[in-house]
Amino acid sequence: AAGPVRAERSVDSLCPYCGVGCQVTYHVRGDAIVAATGRDGLANHERLCVKGRFGFDYSRHPQRLTTPLVRKEGAPKEPIDPADPFSHFRPATWDEALDIAAAGLKRLPRTALAGLGSAKGSNEEAYLFQKLVRTGFGSNNVDHCTRLCHASSVAALLEGIGSGAVTAPIAEVANAEVIVLIGANPSANHPVAASFIKNAVKRGARLVILDPRGQALTRFASHHLRFNNGTDVALLNAMLHVIVAEELYDKDFVAARTTGFAELAVHLQAYSPDSMAPLCGIDAGTIRAVARLYARAGSAMILWGMGVSQHSHGTDNSRCLIALAMLCGQVGRKGSGLHPLRGQNNVQGASDSGLIPMMLPDYGRVGTPAVRGRFEAGWGQDLDPAPGLTVVEMMNAAQAGIIRGMYVEGENPAMSDPDLAHAREALAGLDHLVVQDIFLTETAMLADVVLPASAFFEKTGTFTNTDRHVQMGRQVLDPPGKARPDLWIIAEMGKRLGLAWSYDGPRAVFDEMRGLMDSLAGITWERLEKEGGITYPAGKAILFDESFPTGDGKARLVPASGLVPAESPDAEYPFLLSTGRVLEHWHTGSMTRRSDVLDRLQGVPAVNISPADMARLGLAEGAMVRIESRRGRVEAVAAADSRLSPGALFMPFCFTEAAANLLTNPVLDPVAKIPELKVSAVRLSPAGK
Ligand code: SF4
Repeated sequence: AAGPVRAERSVDSLCPYCGVGCQVTYHVRGDAIVAATGRDGLANHERLCVKGRFGFDYSRHPQRLTTPLVRKEGAPKEPIDPADPFSHFRPATWDEALDIAAAGLKRLPRTALAGLGSAKGSNEEAYLFQKLVRTGFGSNNVDHCTRLCHASSVAALLEGIGSGAVTAPIAEVANAEVIVLIGANPSANHPVAASFIKNAVKRGARLVILDPRGQALTRFASHHLRFNNGTDVALLNAMLHVIVAEELYDKDFVAARTTGFAELAVHLQAYSPDSMAPLCGIDAGTIRAVARLYARAGSAMILWGMGVSQHSHGTDNSRCLIALAMLCGQVGRKGSGLHPLRGQNNVQGASDSGLIPMMLPDYGRVGTPAVRGRFEAGWGQDLDPAPGLTVVEMMNAAQAGIIRGMYVEGENPAMSDPDLAHAREALAGLDHLVVQDIFLTETAMLADVVLPASAFFEKTGTFTNTDRHVQMGRQVLDPPGKARPDLWIIAEMGKRLGLAWSYDGPRAVFDEMRGLMDSLAGITWERLEKEGGITYPAGKAILFDESFPTGDGKARLVPASGLVPAESPDAEYPFLLSTGRVLEHWHTGSMTRRSDVLDRLQGVPAVNISPADMARLGLAEGAMVRIESRRGRVEAVAAADSRLSPGALFMPFCFTEAAANLLTNPVLDPVAKIPELKVSAVRLSPAGK
């Protein structure tokens, strides 16, 4: 017996939650995990947060789907009675369910089909799912939740430096003199990363936080700029203005490694700190001080999260961050770099593996004949050269009757999409919806066929963390009942859609991927099994010490100009709502709300309100309040939060009983098509009035 708590056996695997990618040993007794301990992985050095340490019990929750389900004849597609969630479905055999699932999709024209894959699945599952859509459906209508988290960061990085991944791992904060953290709350969302940031500050690094909301790391920061939500471009352009005007930039680096400086410099003239200060709510002196601190640092890293990316000008926000690093030569050296903190445990890998409607695996564009030709040769079939629809575009197309059939694997758009009433209506209106998941999620409740899948612990596969570190996730438990591994289900669907597939497990899929994806060069299944994890490309943790993977090897400086959010508070809707996550819960809550420990720690849907607004509105802590936007209404518990400025509200989007995305704005960033989940104008009132 190994490990604590009377375990009978132990298995080395990974955490199923965030992109930090902590390595974990699971200790098992009978058919259940009884404990989790951190291993000495590159990203965690034996550390785990509360989700990794206690959030594994969801896999044995009594609500797990254990048999395929088919919608009963005539059962309406409407919210289901929570007391009897299966009332609209009947059990089916696998053959019957798969036959009905595939037949319903085959009946529809290829242009009417779309698929959503999952960043919670393995690389092999992501790769096979996008291959199924591209070859089985015959279009590029495939996307996943990266569209809702870092699509704008990736778009700006690809445009600016030719690569959408991080340039250096989180651990490099240990070598940074200055750490800039913007639009991210790692203590809640990447807790082990936060612990490395704290260690760096204790060692002597200066931490600069740019965020409208306070957070636990604020007490470690030398500066916390609580700028007005949505004015990132104004603030960052003002910092860039200082760096150019005071000639603080690295002239040699700019001359040798970048293009576009002259145009950027002209553009920045309009963004002096004095002119931007009123808009962003930060005094000009502080803007100058922080710009100088960053520019004069011997080494500096920028880490960012969805506070940057989830805006209608998210791509512009990231363009500014890239320009900051490029002007100051803060890339390619120890302690320097650009790091978008990736959300889900495999959002990096799912993107690399091609769950993107305009790109094939490894980010080649579907419209580029040479790129497409490589996959056409590998897959033995012509591919559609037209980019497919993104997540929100799929829902819009569904509501317009253009998309009529969907296959959703492991995603929950009926909780994660903006303007949920619209998204749910679109899903309910489909002619045919197939959902593959481990629980009867809000999306699965609207399905025609539900395919019971495997939880993270019930399958083996590779996962790529935020640091570009490909790691082996190993099977710990058997799936319950008739639930099956996702890869098996995707392959069976593929066969029924007419694809001549004969994969006998994840290794066979991984070997095919290696033949088509240069990023996986040198990374073999045997090495991953032996070494546990390998960083791509070629084991390099810090990238771009000499050149960038752009046509001319230089980074492109792109002026950014989006200044205000699409929707601002007004007399009718005077509060500004941001949505996000809390430490104890993950994404739409389908897993963590069914984790006993985590839901006991935080099981109440709350809206965070500044103490000043609580007092002004006469609200007591714990009072029920109503939050309304132009799109919907929810009720939640009022919670005073001194980290918020008056006029600002915060809600997590994991609570089905108070689904925050009923309120959010579906307006899209024009480049990356990411919705503006961070800014919605709402009003607040006591419930029942
Ligand atoms: Fe899991 Fe992320 Fe916590 Fe690590 S930091 S234990 S990967 S949730």
